[in-house]
Amino acid sequence: MIRTAEQYIESLRTLKTRVYMFGEKIDNWVDHPIIRPSINCVAATYELANDPMYEDLMTATSSLTGKKINRFTHLHQSTDDLIKKVKMQRLLGQKTASCFQRCVGMDAFNAVFSTTYEIDEACGTHYHENFRKFLTFIQDEDLVVDGAMTDPKGDRSKAPHAQADPDMFVHVVEQREDGIVVCGAKCHQTGSINSHWHIFMPTISMGEADKDWAVSFACPTDTEGLYMIYGRQSCDTRKLENAPIDLGNEKYGGQEALVVLDHVFIPNEYIFMNGEYQFAGMMVERFAGYHRQSYGGCKVGVGDVVIGATALAAEYNGADKASAVKDKLIEMTHLNETLYCCGIACSSQGAPTKAGNYQIDLLLANVCKQNVTRFPYEIVRLAEDIAGGLMVTMPAQKDFESDTVVGRNGETIGEICNKFFKTKENVPTEYRQRILRFLENMCLGAAAVGYRTESMHGAGSPQAQRIMIARQGNLEHKKELAKAIAGIPE
Ligand code: SF4
Ligand code: FE
Repeated sequence: MIRTAEQYIESLRTLKTRVYMFGEKIDNWVDHPIIRPSINCVAATYELANDPMYEDLMTATSSLTGKKINRFTHLHQSTDDLIKKVKMQRLLGQKTASCFQRCVGMDAFNAVFSTTYEIDEACGTHYHENFRKFLTFIQDEDLVVDGAMTDPKGDRSKAPHAQADPDMFVHVVEQREDGIVVCGAKCHQTGSINSHWHIFMPTISMGEADKDWAVSFACPTDTEGLYMIYGRQSCDTRKLENAPIDLGNEKYGGQEALVVLDHVFIPNEYIFMNGEYQFAGMMVERFAGYHRQSYGGCKVGVGDVVIGATALAAEYNGADKASAVKDKLIEMTHLNETLYCCGIACSSQGAPTKAGNYQIDLLLANVCKQNVTRFPYEIVRLAEDIAGGLMVTMPAQKDFESDTVVGRNGETIGEICNKFFKTKENVPTEYRQRILRFLENMCLGAAAVGYRTESMHGAGSPQAQRIMIARQGNLEHKKELAKAIAGIPE
């Protein structure tokens, strides 16, 4: 089944999700002006799936049921599916210029599907069957699921069991006949409030002493004992000002929150790992690999909009014919397409897992994300260079609209702003306002969470990729190649 955007938004109203912001409980969070843009953004994943123009990218045939489903709930069946996933993410980045949040669930589905298969094979458990049933339900209902991985981690030098506070990593506090009780939290969870369900996974490799922390499971977002504290974003209260031009992106935005598990009961059928610590690392590596691939799509789509806005800013200023400006736009495009190359490359070199779904090439996915920790910063630097200082010094929308008289001849604040911020003939000052506010939002405002800092830390901080690149780089093989050519015997 494929739901519509409206059905998705309405479905959120039926949940009893507990959301807190600025120290208070938010009852109608669906219509809250600070939260709503992030809901609109997830809704775009439904809207585009219903558009015949994007059917091939946005929908797929379920490997579990044979039914047509939203690609965000799909298990990748081929390298072609992996490539389409990246193209779908670029498309959504272009349409929303934000983080559309639904990829974390898709990446969790694919990682947990293959890992549970291998746990069962080694340990004789039944997690894979649990997961198949769960995912069939998610696909049939076309639900949004948060893939929750990042624990608070406390003292980084200590393993989960050695932390002063055991809640620094999600853990089992009670084993029951019918299920488990869990405590802990997950930090900066993308789209958690906007999700119908959550899948929890461990965040690091674990040893035997961490058995109680080696746990993976699913639960409804509004389950008893679970709540969220909204993660604020730069300039977020502008959304309360009723001045949409100053937002830069009025309709869409991202969302991160702290998700707390306070003695949450998980029935057996929703458990996907419970003590099999040897497989914690596999689940982490696979989820992170998929999400590092994801960034070669979503950030590229957002980058497309940033480049377009920069070119418009230059055009409105009358600077677009300058060769230096043209060259900077070429550089931005080169950097952005390099990220896309990485996303496509790790997808095209994918291979089937033992469970049958496809996984990306891990080395190339990690190279992809490592580049994402750098190139958007350079793209934004060039955008700010071309846009000029006005993107951070321009008066408010309310000034541009103000009737308050300030001039000797009765000019209003609005008239003065429109006089001095006018550039070329035929370019309304409002267009300039809009495009500069958009760039401000992308480079420094609420959207910078998703385009810049998330490029650095989302799907793992840069050092996490370097560890994987070291592991996958096969230096010994390279040494052999050099010896053979240089005539050095074994
Ligand atoms: Fe999707 Fe990108 Fe947001 Fe991750 S950061 S959820 S890949 S849009
Ligand atoms: Fe992310």
